[in-house]
Amino acid sequence: MLIDTHAHLDFPQFNKDREKVIQRTQKAGIKVINVSSHLDTCQKAINLAQKYEGIWAAVGVHPHYAEEIKNQEKLAQLLKKLAKNPKVVGIGECGLDYHESANVNNEKQKELFQTQLRLVQELKLPVIIHCREAFQDTLQIIKPLKLSGVFHCFSGDNNFLEKVLALGFYVGFDGNVTFKNAPKLQELAKLTPLNRLLVETDCPFLAPEPHRGTRSEPAHVKIIAECLAKLKGVSLEEVAKITTKNAKNLFKI
Ligand SMILES: [Zn+2]
Ligand SMILES: [Zn+2]
Repeated sequence: MLIDTHAHLDFPQFNKDREKVIQRTQKAGIKVINVSSHLDTCQKAINLAQKYEGIWAAVGVHPHYAEEIKNQEKLAQLLKKLAKNPKVVGIGECGLDYHESANVNNEKQKELFQTQLRLVQELKLPVIIHCREAFQDTLQIIKPLKLSGVFHCFSGDNNFLEKVLALGFYVGFDGNVTFKNAPKLQELAKLTPLNRLLVETDCPFLAPEPHRGTRSEPAHVKIIAECLAKLKGVSLEEVAKITTKNAKNLFKI
């Protein structure tokens, strides 16, 4: 069994064959945390989680949409209400992105991130952090807080990885770790202790080799786990066992 701890099955890329994709996922023995990225899709993520066994939801707003949020307090109340659903197991994805979302005001991104972190603390839920090229600002924000969570689709350097691990976070690796031009990311995966590792697809994005460039899906998480097993010098079974345990510990599922 494997748990894909970061999928976006509610995205329109799955509108035509969502049912089939989920059937393949279940047949492969894969469970899923379906992560929201926009307020409009949180309810959709929850509906999916309620419909299927082995799918849970996280609710949150991606930094890309930071400028859309006009009232932080209202957002917090809405997310809080959504998070009451028993199938909601985390807050996210939230964080800072100075790369893909470089055009979105940094201060607005920080404000939105902090709103969601307050909720994380209040509700005592794990947080799913999206951080791209915003390492210092992210650390500065999370350091004084007592949080449990994951840095999803990890990127950065050894130093940042060390800091994230020291703060007790889990580290998620995705399909891009299988890419041929990713020796740096592979090195980071090697440096991450097994008991902090999570496997995720971020589907529909970042399909692993040999599917690179196509729509990804949770069933591909096995390829990512195989790649991590090779990098860590352990069996696939070992990676499956430990990452499943890690996901269960973090998300209390
Ligand atoms: Zn992300
Ligand atoms: Zn994502």
